[in-house]
Amino acid sequence: MLVQILCSVLLARSNDPIIHPVLEEDRPDISAFKKYPFCYTTGFGYVYARTEDGAKEFAEEINRAGNTYRKYFGSTVPNGTAVEVNYGESPESPSNLASNKLFWLFPVIDARNSSEPTIPYPVAHELGHLWYYGVQWKYRPHSATAVDPYGSPAEDYLDEIAAILLEPDREKETRRIYLLNQMAARPSENLTWPLKEFTVLHHPNSTEQRKDVNLVVRFYSQCLLFSDYLIETTKNEKIFAAITEASTKGKGFAVWLKEEGEKYDLPSDLEQLDKNWVAWIKSKHGSN
Ligand SMILES: [Zn+2]
Repeated sequence: MLVQILCSVLLARSNDPIIHPVLEEDRPDISAFKKYPFCYTTGFGYVYARTEDGAKEFAEEINRAGNTYRKYFGSTVPNGTAVEVNYGESPESPSNLASNKLFWLFPVIDARNSSEPTIPYPVAHELGHLWYYGVQWKYRPHSATAVDPYGSPAEDYLDEIAAILLEPDREKETRRIYLLNQMAARPSENLTWPLKEFTVLHHPNSTEQRKDVNLVVRFYSQCLLFSDYLIETTKNEKIFAAITEASTKGKGFAVWLKEEGEKYDLPSDLEQLDKNWVAWIKSKHGSN
């Protein structure tokens, strides 16, 4: 079973993985992917694609995402494979991934070949969710009493932060600017959730609230800005690895803060942290 094998095979590799085409005879023996003419290595496994440019581009993005994951979580992502699919198509799921020492399978949609008016598939973001669940949570099932089935068993803001941290800088900046501009334009409105609510919030996408697109977009933006705030304040890029570690032991953010906050130069009280965070975000958008 992939679940058990995942953790035992965290392969060591260099910091700067190379990208190159894989010779036919050196490809992993995955018959379902034989139809793809282009196979590239990444530092984190393989990419199968229909075009050479596609394979190379996806390989570069996976390398960037994998290195970024290691930067923020300190964990090496095990090898896996990404397969190019058409919009709306699912990849075939070969049974022999594990025997090829590949521990995740990810469909990459090449929007360039699609007639659908779609945005480029957010490869790094979705890999972030996949790796966070596999590496930090070891694919732990949700408890039978879980009311929140979104992503991993982590609180939803953590799951989303793990994904957003891996996004390209340009996409992150768009998310920041969106919320900061809204806050500057509507200073009398509460456009962020108080941390007491935010750190236990059900992902708006998993509730009725998903119909309110602005609310969903604001949630993503607050996830990023809150991660900016904590990383900047603690000067610790791996702060979310520490918070996740506590979460895997059933300790939510408020408990983690009380027990560990001081260690990271944070107040141990969530109300005080909330005040600091509100002051910080106000200073970013510049309104009073
Ligand atoms: Zn997400």
